[in-house]
Amino acid sequence: MALPMKIVASVMESRPALALIEQVSAVADGVELRLDALGISPAEDLTSVIASAIGATSKPIILTYRPREEGGQAEASLSERLSFWSRVLAWTERRADVRARLFYDWEVDLAEAFLQLAPPVRALPWERVIASHHRDEARPEAVEAMYARLSALPARVLKLAIFARDIGDSLIIFRLLERARREGRTLVGIAMGMAGLITRILGVAYGSAFTYGAAVAGREAAPGQIPVADLRTLYRVAEIGRQTMVVGVIGHPIGHSLSPLIHNTGFQALGLDFVYVPLEVAALDRFMRDFVRPETRQLSWPLRGLSVTIPHKVAVMEFVEDVDPLARRVGAVNTLVVEGERLRGYNTDVAGGAEPLRERIALKGARVAIVGAGGAARALAYGVREYGARVSLFGRRWERVRELAEEVGADAHVLDELATCAFDVLINATPVGMAGYPEQEVIPESALRHRPLVYDLVYNPAETPLLRRARRMGCPVLSGVEMFLRQAAEQFRLWTGAEPPLDVMRARMYTALR
Ligand code: NAP
Repeated sequence: MALPMKIVASVMESRPALALIEQVSAVADGVELRLDALGISPAEDLTSVIASAIGATSKPIILTYRPREEGGQAEASLSERLSFWSRVLAWTERRADVRARLFYDWEVDLAEAFLQLAPPVRALPWERVIASHHRDEARPEAVEAMYARLSALPARVLKLAIFARDIGDSLIIFRLLERARREGRTLVGIAMGMAGLITRILGVAYGSAFTYGAAVAGREAAPGQIPVADLRTLYRVAEIGRQTMVVGVIGHPIGHSLSPLIHNTGFQALGLDFVYVPLEVAALDRFMRDFVRPETRQLSWPLRGLSVTIPHKVAVMEFVEDVDPLARRVGAVNTLVVEGERLRGYNTDVAGGAEPLRERIALKGARVAIVGAGGAARALAYGVREYGARVSLFGRRWERVRELAEEVGADAHVLDELATCAFDVLINATPVGMAGYPEQEVIPESALRHRPLVYDLVYNPAETPLLRRARRMGCPVLSGVEMFLRQAAEQFRLWTGAEPPLDVMRARMYTALR
């Protein structure tokens, strides 16, 4: 019989937070109560805590008392855990009213010990046991051996969590899920860590009995766990299936990308069966071989495409047979589309950066000053040149500025010349002003005076210090949010063939940035 839950909220609180349990029950299908987080000794009586937690929800509850050696907080020997669980069992087995809603997460050593201790095995509630193991390493043979050990137990559910150092380690979990399906076992398979996030989001669609999310953002029960509300509403874990088209963003690091929010919002608004996932990729060649190239991929999934971000925008080109001429000229690909057996590469930063500008100002013959000489400056320089603008580049490293200027057909200047050069539009293409970046000003007030438009490519925050200053001086301003949205919109068109709901996506992005 299928389990009555796909998304489980891990409650990792040092006090039994009843209001929280009530609250997450509205989003999750089940609640995991991490008894080890309560910080009590294994000899203490927990039955009143469990009783009130049960009373706070009508959903299934998983009781977990994770010892340190499995990544938990309980300081307890095997015999202490045995006696702890024996007491819990003796109590819960008397509570016929709630018994059917309870699951017990027993680590493999504990489950084996119970099996040995208790002839007649039948007396133990194995149909409500999750036999689990959490390991730090991800050697496939060791993981397979552990799966074999777990599956020798009569537990209804097996749970195996490994730590993914690279996204490639997630494949071990996807293979195990396949094996469990063939063998008729119910498995929860998880690759922990950011590199394993894909197993938390797609796992259920690919055979995992359920997945865990954090009840409270920032208080995760395991590395890589994301808030349960995101699993439910952003990634629609309970609704997606193996037919759901997958797109994602590859980069390193990838934790704070807003792309999943923007694209998933768009897919949901149009009712498209697509999901967009963050993919932390360090080793690009291995990822392209094992996950992307249709002829070599190890994961059988309907991958429709990828956003490509730092540091892979240039290196990814060697894996793509059809690179769009504009992307080839720019020398960077930020979008992949999987078209049957072929991969196509595009650069949507160019149009994404220039389009919002073109809507605000006539670019033909306009003098555009770009501060910075990195990837964003390059995309903007190409973009505005396409519309006939004249470009001047300003930067702190002369060699780099000169090289880029030569390549894109622009004038090169040192930063100090900003105050004296004549131009119509000023664009900041440096990270200065970005949340978390050291506070400083690279653009002097005099460079802002009487400008028809000041455009900051930084999008977080939406109103940067530069835009605030420019606005105060009476200059019309344009936020980097628009570039972010437009490059995403173009990707959306390439993957889905549908017109993106830009207003819905924009509203979602501003809400998130607030
Ligand atoms: P990048 O390749 O690392 O280039 C950054 C450029 O900024 C380099 O030329 C760097 O100069 C310069 N720079 C950095 N700190 C500086 C400072 N304190 N003073 C003067 N110059 C400085 O980065 P990128 O990909 O071009 O991205 C730049 C920024 O654009 C990002 O941080 C992001 O906020 C924004 N962006 C926005 C979007 C969007 O969709 N809205 C898209 C892409 C980028 P050096 O060469 O001397 O280090």
